[in-house]
Amino acid sequence: MSGIIDCHVHLYSPEVAADPRGWAAARGELHWAELVAPPDGRPSLQGWVTVDQLLRDMDEAGVERVVLQGWYWESQNTCAEQNRWYAEWAAAHPDRISWFATLQPAAGQAAVEELRRAAGEGALGAGELSPAAQGWFLREEAFLAVAETARDLRLPFLFHVNEVLGRQRPGRRFDRLEDFQWLAATFPDLRLILAHWGGLIPFFELNRAVRKDLRNVFYDTAASPLLYDARIYQAVADAVGADKILFGTDYPLRLYPKSGEPPGFARMVEEVRSSLAEESARAAILGGNARRLLFG
Ligand SMILES: [Zn+2]
Repeated sequence: MSGIIDCHVHLYSPEVAADPRGWAAARGELHWAELVAPPDGRPSLQGWVTVDQLLRDMDEAGVERVVLQGWYWESQNTCAEQNRWYAEWAAAHPDRISWFATLQPAAGQAAVEELRRAAGEGALGAGELSPAAQGWFLREEAFLAVAETARDLRLPFLFHVNEVLGRQRPGRRFDRLEDFQWLAATFPDLRLILAHWGGLIPFFELNRAVRKDLRNVFYDTAASPLLYDARIYQAVADAVGADKILFGTDYPLRLYPKSGEPPGFARMVEEVRSSLAEESARAAILGGNARRLLFG
């Protein structure tokens, strides 16, 4: 088995795609609605696909398996709603679709119970979570209860991490990067996946003390073509080792908007392959690491 694994894909039920703003308004998910369906009619990078379209796009690009990541919803009820879709789709396609359960840790005990329920339904981890966007802090009591539950269930987390320097947009919210180091040091057995190259945290691993604390931290490549120069693949592999990098696209986001291409996997897979010098690094990033980390 050596097919490609994409650890960072988002999917929504057809009723959401039909009317994202209406669906979000009914649930108070205004932050998400701003991103995927801007009210002023600005073009959105978000694509909408069905499970069947996902499977066709995977086949076309040689993607063996995807790991669905939930959105970082503001409401715990919305998290539970998405988790039930994911449980159903993964059960229908167990050889192609896996999933992480999304949570709103600020909901306290309800988030802990949801994580236990999702684990029983086959969730491989908890994500995608964004403290800054969801309005909580990694060091706060409510999240610690969720972190302890994940540790006891041996489930990894996947966090959305924004790059602190970069395109500055009004209303953009940031986590304190040092809180991720604190979390990793406090729960050394907990596996953490920091999405979008961890906001460039990998380069802090050149500091020996940071590297020690972050030994169970991994980085995914989600949305990389939208954010970073393709030299980042080799640069991060050189900084932390290719075995800490997981391939993720953020499908069905339009990763190459200027091309006008529909969402897909193939072009980014090619970008990964052509950006790394060593075949062993390509194989590790495109599937080997995820296989070891999530399915070992
Ligand atoms: Zn993200």
